[in-house]
Amino acid sequence: MSHTVFRKMFRSRNCPTDRSVLTDIYLMEIISRQQRMASLAKKLRRENKVLGFVPTMGSLHEGHLSLIQKARQMCDVVIVSVFVNPAQFNENSDFESYPRDLTSDAEYLAPYDVDYIYAPEASEIYGEDFTTFVTVDDISEKLEGASRPGHFRGVATVVTILFNTIRPDFGYFGQKDAQQVAVVKRLVRDLKFDTEVIVMPIVREESGLALSSRNSLLNDEDRAAAAVIRKSLLTAERAVEKGEEDAGTIMQIVSEVLESESSARTDYIALVDPDNLDPLERIGDGPVLLAVAVRFGDVRLIDNIVLQEKQ
Ligand code: AMP
Repeated sequence: MSHTVFRKMFRSRNCPTDRSVLTDIYLMEIISRQQRMASLAKKLRRENKVLGFVPTMGSLHEGHLSLIQKARQMCDVVIVSVFVNPAQFNENSDFESYPRDLTSDAEYLAPYDVDYIYAPEASEIYGEDFTTFVTVDDISEKLEGASRPGHFRGVATVVTILFNTIRPDFGYFGQKDAQQVAVVKRLVRDLKFDTEVIVMPIVREESGLALSSRNSLLNDEDRAAAAVIRKSLLTAERAVEKGEEDAGTIMQIVSEVLESESSARTDYIALVDPDNLDPLERIGDGPVLLAVAVRFGDVRLIDNIVLQEKQ
């Protein structure tokens, strides 16, 4: 079967006990075939529908939801892909342990008026003799790229394939993955994709920990300890607001806060230009990205904040 239709009835919030309002039948189609996705998207474009596309690896949470809700506001049709992309994992164990549950993802999306879930098998995306990869030079090798060689080649390749299949008017990405945003924006600009990239702010737990599918891999202690990441970024922000401009000093401040948590292992702390990820020595006129990667046990978490000198 090439696709499944997911049906869900839900009650009106205003009148939860009145059975007569149980008439809203919500339809969401789950598509697994690339050809079906492409022909459907083509038909919708011919009907002049504005297509919004949210690429995800599933295990959906409120971070993903913020992208989906923005797409819902802006577009006629919302397509969410759920695809754990093997090409962007450089460790097989990481790929294997990545949480996957399409049924619970579909249930999670049911109340949010998503039109289509595109959930292909890896073989639909990468045929047996697949040999074409897309590389965004330079920015792909920095920060995350240094620890995860080939990661952004995998990201750029799958985004190219998904954009070519759907040809969305808008593609939605989270600031949580700031380097991914830089890579995708450059990809879209250089290869002249007719898709506008929309970036949404980081959604966090109450503790300040950025929501991530990987958080479910943390034990309770590490999950609580990981709130130190946000604390370190906010401490840096306060220092900048008080007039600190020197990158070395700001990174030292972040490092000290992270070190206050014994289970945290800092992978990198970087102050860079958000577009090209070049290191910066001072906080200047424009925005500066402060990005960190920190390990708790086997789980590697990333977070960031955009700093700007007080005007
Ligand atoms: P993923 O499923 O982790 O590949 O993420 C899919 C999209 O959701 C990416 O554009 C992420 O940047 C975005 N995203 C993930 N977590 C968050 C978050 N906490 N806040 C905002 N966006 C997020």
